[in-house]
Amino acid sequence: MRVLVVGAGLSGLSTAMYLGLHGVQALVVERHPSTSIYPKARGQFPHTMEALRLAGVDQKMVAASPSDQTFKIVIAASAAGPVFKEILVDQLGPDLSALSTAVWAGCSQERAEPVLAERARELGAEIRFATELVEFQQDDDGVTATLRDLTTGETSEIRAPYMVAADGHRSPIRAALGIGHHGRGVLGTGTGVVFRADLGDVIPPNALVYLQNPELPGGGGSLVTTDEPSQYAVSVGLGDHDWLKVIRTATGIPDLAAEVVQHGMTSTDIKHSVADRFSDGRVHLVGDAARVMPPTGGFGGNSAIMDGFHLAWKLAMVVRGEAGPGLLDSHDPEQRPWSDFIAEQQYTAYVERMRPDLADDTLASPVDPVSKLFFGYRCLSDAVILEPDDDRELLENPEEPTGRPGSRAPHVMVDGKSVVELFGRGFVVLTGAQQWVDRATDLGLDAYLVGDEVTKTYGIGAEGAVLVRPDFVIAWRSMQGEGDLASTLDRVLSRV
Ligand SMILES: Cc1cc2nc3c(=O)[nH]c(=O)nc-3n(C[C@H](O)[C@H](O)[C@H](O)COP(=O)(O)OP(=O)(O)OC[C@H]3O[C@@H](n4cnc5c(N)ncnc54)[C@H](O)[C@@H]3O)c2cc1C
Repeated sequence: MRVLVVGAGLSGLSTAMYLGLHGVQALVVERHPSTSIYPKARGQFPHTMEALRLAGVDQKMVAASPSDQTFKIVIAASAAGPVFKEILVDQLGPDLSALSTAVWAGCSQERAEPVLAERARELGAEIRFATELVEFQQDDDGVTATLRDLTTGETSEIRAPYMVAADGHRSPIRAALGIGHHGRGVLGTGTGVVFRADLGDVIPPNALVYLQNPELPGGGGSLVTTDEPSQYAVSVGLGDHDWLKVIRTATGIPDLAAEVVQHGMTSTDIKHSVADRFSDGRVHLVGDAARVMPPTGGFGGNSAIMDGFHLAWKLAMVVRGEAGPGLLDSHDPEQRPWSDFIAEQQYTAYVERMRPDLADDTLASPVDPVSKLFFGYRCLSDAVILEPDDDRELLENPEEPTGRPGSRAPHVMVDGKSVVELFGRGFVVLTGAQQWVDRATDLGLDAYLVGDEVTKTYGIGAEGAVLVRPDFVIAWRSMQGEGDLASTLDRVLSRV
């Protein structure tokens, strides 16, 4: 039976793609007639690119990115200045080559979604556009959903073992389940247009300007380049605006000739809100349905993709009968605390970049180094076997990896490739001892004999072993050779 995924944004398409990769088909329903026609999220972080590499689409994201692989982010009164702060200059992101062989990409949401959709279909997903979920009920065995074909008006009923709510920030599914949310709420409402103009040397080909300017509606907003040269998206506070005036103020060119080509993204709420629960029975929340953050930091789109990556292998193993349903209980404790964390981080960035008037002593300090957010977060649930002395720290510095269960499997170069490239299809054992390879192979797992550099980085001795989940998270380790792999796997997969 197919898993029902509601919503064909980044999170829904990613979930469908990774379900396919793990051998389970998805039916994706999307009320819009196509994927997003707005650029919205831009940029894929290296940890996202590692996950996309597993699905074979990382290079497609690079190919769909602007050819100029640099990005500039500033806080300024206008594109022409004055500049108050440079956040990123001439690069897509900080150099993380010590942590990953994956690179940054600068693909827009408008181009990223079709890449994911195509791959999801190749891997067996059906994507039905112009189709909405009308209502659903769940019982002990599955979910019954009523779908409406918006072209014909016809409704139909389907059964699915599980449903994934990838239905965006308003998430009718979350509301129907009575799942509340917490956070700082609606921080403002923006509205924007896409316009064409010759901005010449005023703004580089890939740039984002956070605007702080009392002459703009709402006192500021953002101006961002799009995939089309000479086309830009400007966003400011809600209202009925004279857009030429707004564009001239935002660009800082008082006599600029500009043509509005697309009124869109109207009344976008800037929100800070995290669902109180990420799962309810057979329904699991991903993407904006689970958390909405101010768009200051690039985590919205990236975490939407990563949610699918982290959830799909669990769903697939449960649907295939290889794991107990209890494995899915780990979705909430693994993703919600981290979501709370990054939402606060993006809020801090929002206050700095767009709303300095909101600064107060409740602001979280920005995480340093920032790579902790990408590579340093830990999954703390019953789907990992934490060690007795574990302090349950949510973040660790990936530049000094511990190899502790719950943390992300560290990158080490082996024969010209990252050891991370060994992970993803199933559970993998890395060890310095042949006996573990034999035990793992008997259990149907992939196992690799590795050298000192890997064992040291993973904190195990030559006789030790480490078990890595399909989402690159360390599930368990045996420091010196103690322990039983079969019963460990049963615990991690909730088979006992
Ligand atoms: C203006 C703007 C700029 C942004 N900039 C960035 C950025 O630079 N970087 C970044 O990382 N993030 C950014 N974001 C955030 C990012 O776009 C979102 O976090 C991301 O799109 C979330 O993806 P999603 O799949 O969870 O939700 P969505 O993309 O919202 O997809 C949800 C889908 O569900 C569908 N749906 C809802 N209900 C139903 C139903 N009942 N039946 C069928 N379909 C349904 C909707 O039509 C929608 O297509 C930005 C957002 C906005 C609005």
